[in-house]
Amino acid sequence: MQKYYKRYLLALGASFMLYACSTSQNETEIQEPMKVVDHHSYAKPEEAVITHMDWDASVDFDTKTIGATASFGISKSENASEIIFDTNGLSIQEVKDGNGQPLTFELGEAKPFMGSPLMVKLEPETQKVSIKYTTSPDAEALQWLNSKQTADEKGPFLFTQSEAILARSWVPVQDSPGIRFTYNAHVTVPKGMLALMSATNPTEVAEDGSYSFTMNKPIPAYLLALAVGDIAYQQIGSRTGVYAEPSIVKAAAYEFEDMQHMVEAAEELYGPYQWGVYDLIVLPPSFPFGGMENPRLTFATPTILAGDRSLVSLVAHELAHSWSGNLVTNATWDDFWLNEGFTVYFEQRIMEALYGRDYSEMLATLNLQGLKKEIKSISESEHPEDTELKLHLEGRNPDDGMTNIAYDKGYYFLRLLEEKVGREKFDTFLKDYFTSNAFHSMTTEEFIEQLNTRLFEKNGIAIDEQLYKDWIYSEGLPANCPQPVSDRFAKVDEVLKKWESGTPIQELISPEDIITKKWSSHEWLHFLHGLPESMTLEQMTALDEYLNFTYSGNSEVLDAWFVHAIKHQYTPAYKNMENFLVHTGRRKFLTPLYGEMVKTEAGKQMAKDIYAKARPNYHYVATSTLDAMLDWGKEETSM
Ligand SMILES: [Zn+2]
Repeated sequence: MQKYYKRYLLALGASFMLYACSTSQNETEIQEPMKVVDHHSYAKPEEAVITHMDWDASVDFDTKTIGATASFGISKSENASEIIFDTNGLSIQEVKDGNGQPLTFELGEAKPFMGSPLMVKLEPETQKVSIKYTTSPDAEALQWLNSKQTADEKGPFLFTQSEAILARSWVPVQDSPGIRFTYNAHVTVPKGMLALMSATNPTEVAEDGSYSFTMNKPIPAYLLALAVGDIAYQQIGSRTGVYAEPSIVKAAAYEFEDMQHMVEAAEELYGPYQWGVYDLIVLPPSFPFGGMENPRLTFATPTILAGDRSLVSLVAHELAHSWSGNLVTNATWDDFWLNEGFTVYFEQRIMEALYGRDYSEMLATLNLQGLKKEIKSISESEHPEDTELKLHLEGRNPDDGMTNIAYDKGYYFLRLLEEKVGREKFDTFLKDYFTSNAFHSMTTEEFIEQLNTRLFEKNGIAIDEQLYKDWIYSEGLPANCPQPVSDRFAKVDEVLKKWESGTPIQELISPEDIITKKWSSHEWLHFLHGLPESMTLEQMTALDEYLNFTYSGNSEVLDAWFVHAIKHQYTPAYKNMENFLVHTGRRKFLTPLYGEMVKTEAGKQMAKDIYAKARPNYHYVATSTLDAMLDWGKEETSM
C-alpha cells in the first residue's frame, strides 16, 4: 500500500495533514490530493483549522455545568467561508470574531456519539472565533461527584475524560487527534477548591478560586483535561509530584516514589521529556480508566495504590505516552495501536530498566494471556475484524476500538521487530521516530513507510511485506508472535500443577512466604489465571482461607479472584465483591465481573441488583459499556 503513497505536509496552520497521492495511470500525473480523513470529526481542517485556544470558564457544582467562552486563533485557506467545530450537547449562546462582532453560526443535526457540527461563517478578515456556551449537566466527558463519592467525603469533585471523542461535550473544538493547538485557560471554581488542567498547574489553593493555565505545546483535543476538588500536592522529585485528596496524598507519594527514576529511564531510552514537569493526580474511584496520559498531569485510578508499589507499571505506561501518543499521535482512531502498542512497548522497556528483565517478562506474559483471551472473545463477536491492528471504525463509536488488541498485539508486533533487527538498531530507529515526528500525527501507512526506509533499508535488511499483512491487516495472532520467558512464572506453574494433583496449598506455599510477600502481585495474578476452569467449593474455600484472596488489598488480585467466585458460586466472596463493584469505576475491572455474572440467569439478576447501586458512581465511559451488556433500561422502555 504505502508504495503508492507520497506525503506532503501542507503549510496550513497546524501542519498535521498527510496528503496521499495515488500514482495515476495516465502520463499527466495530475494528482488529486487525498486528505487523511478522520471520520470521527466534522471539522474540515483543509479549509479552516484552529491553532490556539483561550478558554475562560466558570465551574458550577450546583447546576453541574461549565459556562465558558472558547476563543480560537485560526488558520484558513484563501477561499474558506466557514469553520466547523465538533460539539456534543453544548448550548451555544453567541459566536463573535476577534473584534467582538457577531458571526453567523448554525448547529447541525445531532448524531449518536458524534454530536453536532457547529458551522461558523467566516468573513475574509476573520482571524479569531469566540464561542460562548454552557455544557449540559450530563456532558459525557464530565464526571460530577458528590462528596460521598470521594475518598475524603469533604466536598464535591469534578474530573474530565476526553479520549476518544468526548472533549466536544465540554469544549466546542475541532475534536480530531490530527488537529493540534496550544491553549491558555482561566478557570473559576468554588472557594477552597483546587483546579488542575493538562497544563502548567498550581500547587496551592487560591483564595479567590481563580486559576490560570498555559499549555504552550500544541496538543490534540483529546488531551484537554480538568480536575476540580479538595486536592493536595506533594512533590516527589525535582520534576515530579503527586496530587490527591488530602487523606491519600502521602500514600500516593509513597507508592509513586520511583516516578523520577522512571522519567530518567525513559529519557535514557528515547530522548528528552518535552513537557516540563511530570505530575500525577490520583482521582476518586469512579475514574473509568487505569490512567489517562493528559500532558504534564497523568490522571490515575486509586486502584493502583496497592501499598507495595506493585502496580506502578501503570505510571510507566502513562509516562511513556509523553512520547508515544502525546508527541507522535495516531492520525485517526483507526490508527489507535500507534498510540497504545508503542506505549506498552515503551512501558515494558522502562520496567525492565528499573526492575530487571525477569520482572518485565512477567508483565509481558500477563499481557499475552490477556491478549489471547481478548482475541478469542472479539473473534466470536459481530466485529471479528477488530482484532486487526489497523481498525475500521467509520460509523462506529471509536471507543469500540479501545481493546487489548491495540495495546498488546501492538506491543508484540513491535517486540517482533526488535527481535528481528536487534535491540540496538530498533532503539536508534525509535529515538529518531519520536524526535523527527514530534508534535505530528501518524497514520499506520506512514509508519510502515518510515519502518521500511529508516529501519530496514538503512540497515540493509530486506523488507518483509508479509509481516505487515499478517500483523497489521489480518485478524488474530500470527504464529510468529514472540514468546515471553518468565522463570518466576514457571515456579508458579509448578505450584499450580502440584496443587491440582492434590497437594494442599499449605505444603506448597509456606506461611512465611505469604508474610514476606515472596511472590509479587504479578505472581499471584498468574496463579489466579492458572487455576482450573472448574473447582470444587472445598478447593475454593481452602485457597481463600489460607491466602485471603477475598480481602486482598490489591485490586488486580481481587478482580481475578472474584471471576472465579462468580463462576463457582463461592458466596463468601459476594459481599466484598459487591463492595468492590460499588466503589470501583475502572472499566477494566467491571467488565470481566459483570460479564461473568450475566452468563447465568441467577447471575444476571445479581448483576442488575449490584449495578443499580453502583451505576451512579460510574463514569459514562463505563456505563455505556455496561448498559449494553446488562440491557440496562430496555425493560423499562418496553413496558
Ligand atoms: Zn495508554
